Amino acid sequence: MPDIVTGARIDLGRLRASILEMAAIGATAAGGVTRLTLTDEDRAARDLFARWCADAGLTLRLDDMGTQYARYEGRDPSLAPVLLGSHLDSVPAGGKYDGPLGVLTGLEVVRALRDAGLRGRRAIEIVNFTNEEGARFEPAMVASAVLVGAYTADFVHHRRDATGLRFGDELDRIGYRGDAANRPGAIHAYLELHIEQGPVLESENLPLAAVEGILGIRWFNVTLRGQSQHAGPSPMRSRRDAMVAAGRIIVGLRELALSYPDPVVATVGRLRPVPGVINQIPAEVVMSADVRHWTDEGLAEIAGKAEALMRRIAVEERVEIDIETIQNVPPTRFDPRLVELLDASIQAVGAPSRRMVAGAGHDAKYMNDITPTAMLFVRTIGGMSHCESEEIAWDDARLGAETLLRAALRLAEEP
Ligand SMILES: [Zn+2]
Repeated sequence: MPDIVTGARIDLGRLRASILEMAAIGATAAGGVTRLTLTDEDRAARDLFARWCADAGLTLRLDDMGTQYARYEGRDPSLAPVLLGSHLDSVPAGGKYDGPLGVLTGLEVVRALRDAGLRGRRAIEIVNFTNEEGARFEPAMVASAVLVGAYTADFVHHRRDATGLRFGDELDRIGYRGDAANRPGAIHAYLELHIEQGPVLESENLPLAAVEGILGIRWFNVTLRGQSQHAGPSPMRSRRDAMVAAGRIIVGLRELALSYPDPVVATVGRLRPVPGVINQIPAEVVMSADVRHWTDEGLAEIAGKAEALMRRIAVEERVEIDIETIQNVPPTRFDPRLVELLDASIQAVGAPSRRMVAGAGHDAKYMNDITPTAMLFVRTIGGMSHCESEEIAWDDARLGAETLLRAALRLAEEP
């Protein structure tokens, strides 16, 4: 049945076939995908996407970051387009849906419009951003970052992978270095559909969520220095044990984050004792701390409390402490009007709606700097993502596509 409002019909069979055909490129034995950016697998994925877009009558452009844009022309070509997109690259042994679901759902939206003979006032462009993951070339999300001026193209082209190969050379090798003139000019709006990558929607039995923003991040590198001594002859009460201080900090940060409501988080992901010998009290421990909050004030507060907590524990354990802030990413707040539009579109396709804040970065984070932006999350089974067991329910994919169709057409019709 065609959607009564849009007049177009999402073809779930076609969307599913496209996702599964794309997932065959770089497929792993355990059902996942390894398709690192600018590899032969990435080239094959780009070629397939380009062929599908050409078959759908879309016009392709390629910019200097290798980002692909496929344009479904509007009735008035002079108006700024609506962009729908995500990424086709993956992490090693990643999942089938992560970025591809957003790119291929965007493609399904324009296929549905074309089948129904419908065209918005504005063009709709489907975007495949290069190197969203940052798994091969760090940092992540460089293509959207260049669009908004956060990095220069030159900086990105000179990034090297672990084997010393350069981003720019690999872009040339796979034949996907385009022209800076093909970057989008004015953009009316950007919508990114993505799997949630977490367990919240599943736990609340909801298929979709309108995403209001992305958590801000503060990263610390912490060095604790105590006294190295033999584990046997050193009485417990006289020790200056950097590892004990580290352990108390790990637990303390968890308690700090738990004193806030979801989705505030704190994590210690890295811990390195020196020298790291079984029968020796370590002289030094180098550790990381990662705290995240959805507001600027909240992030400043939890980061301040985290620092105070680490210093207090260091004093109590009589160890020296150095705290270095190595990353400070402010929270992203998406366009309230677009969030509202997605929320209403979710309800319009018959699904209950919820708003949420994303915990991980996406290209939408940068796009939000230059155009009204919002994201649509699709429930992820078991909350599993960036792994081979990543799964979604096809009915959720259909609801997501119908929601994206409604929202995109609405935006494309705006004068
Ligand atoms: Zn992704």
